[in-house]
Amino acid sequence: MKVAVVGVQGDVEEHIVATEKSMKNLGIQGEVLAVREPGIIPECDAIIIPGGESTTISKLISRDSIAEEIIESAREGKRIMGTCAGLIVLAKEGDEQVERTKTKLLGLLDVKVKRNAFGRQRESFQTKLQMKYVGEIDGVFIRAPLIESVGKEVEILAKFEDRIVAVKQGKILGLAFHPELSSTKVHEYFLSL
Ligand code: GLN
Repeated sequence: MKVAVVGVQGDVEEHIVATEKSMKNLGIQGEVLAVREPGIIPECDAIIIPGGESTTISKLISRDSIAEEIIESAREGKRIMGTCAGLIVLAKEGDEQVERTKTKLLGLLDVKVKRNAFGRQRESFQTKLQMKYVGEIDGVFIRAPLIESVGKEVEILAKFEDRIVAVKQGKILGLAFHPELSSTKVHEYFLSL
């Protein structure tokens, strides 16, 4: 199995490490690649868009044709996971911050997101979450977005105080928090989709 971690900006290395560990735990042979140029994603079986700055990630993947390659991969039914900024990039609709910064969203997850909904960097926090199909996990929230509303095809996987923080649509996962910073549980679930 080949897994692409979109590597233009953000916590790329942490996702690579978590994915490699997960593959080992599941006995999956393969490799994890940090992708910074077009031409690699079409050869991969799964794609991860990490946390970071959604404005920057969006700009860099749209400048090259990485954005189109991700959209094509979704059409082909490949697994895609976006965490934090990656969730924003995957979404269909954003808030006024997304509009103001002219952030281009991929529109692959039928959700509306609100950027920085949980406050600033120093208001970052960690909390126990119950995630459907995964079980109990530690959710690390760093200037995290919130999923304000979801479309019919979207399944809610986790909430924090009544707020939606993890969703699934087909083989696409969107998480407001950073699973790569706490364990390999979410990555193992993602790889086994
Ligand atoms: N606040 C960032 C954004 O809106 C996301 C933060 C993160 O990925 N940890 O892009």
